[in-house]
Amino acid sequence: MDIAATGATGQMGTNVMKVTRDRGENISIAVDREKTEHRGLEVESDENLEQLLRENKVDVIVDFTVPEATMKYLEAARKTETAIVIGTTGFSEDQEKRIEEAGEEIPVLKASNFSPSINVMRELVREAAGKLEKYDIEVTETHHNRKRDAPSGTAKTFLSEIEEARGGFEEVHGREGKQPREKGEIGVHAKRAGDIKGTHEVLLAGDEEVLKIRHRSESREVFASGALRAAEWLQDKKPGFYSFSEVLEE
Ligand code: NAD
Repeated sequence: MDIAATGATGQMGTNVMKVTRDRGENISIAVDREKTEHRGLEVESDENLEQLLRENKVDVIVDFTVPEATMKYLEAARKTETAIVIGTTGFSEDQEKRIEEAGEEIPVLKASNFSPSINVMRELVREAAGKLEKYDIEVTETHHNRKRDAPSGTAKTFLSEIEEARGGFEEVHGREGKQPREKGEIGVHAKRAGDIKGTHEVLLAGDEEVLKIRHRSESREVFASGALRAAEWLQDKKPGFYSFSEVLEE
């Protein structure tokens, strides 16, 4: 498989390049904001991505960058009919819609988290939220101090699982001053510190007991491996908008 890695010098891009090499696959193009060299590899400027995609053999683009860059790369993918795996988070509703629509023309797979166990945690959260219908829920996520978006894409995924199980609710982000908990609200908390790779906890509490469902990433490689697994799965798919659960189910 020939990969184009975008955000190649970033934390995730670096891991994508490492895992790609470890798996014996090929980094056909590495791009970032500027032309540079990174870990012994030529990194091209993203200004020419469309042209680079035309000139090099690329089966799948693997993108871990920022929303504005992803939208640009999605356009290059669409014009060159190249499949794209998107790991970037923090999109607006309009951007989410445009990504989904691109699936009408090319294979697109987007996931806020490429860890297999987070995927299992999604199912656990949905089941617990539905079965423990009256319990209060608080969602807490912790990430490194450079993370741009809050709450994390994964926390948002858990919130949509809770919504599926329970219907609508009010999200309360942090609390300050006189702010007693209202019935049915869900508290969402984002902590940022050091180089924490990602911790997510969903707490469900009744009057007499507490259930905590918690996941901690020990290395960013788990996300890169998941993204590569998704890329392998996506490379011979028809145009469509796919999820990581479909990869894991197969
Ligand atoms: P990072 O800051 O280390 O890397 C970001 C990369 O994007 C860098 O290479 C940077 O040069 C590039 N970039 C930034 N602004 C740009 C712009 N305007 N145009 C082009 N390139 C630009 O961040 P990271 O930790 O590698 O995370 C990247 C993204 O991946 C984030 O959105 C993060 O939330 C997400 N993420 C997703 C998963 C997952 O499993 N889906 C896991 C970890 C991180």
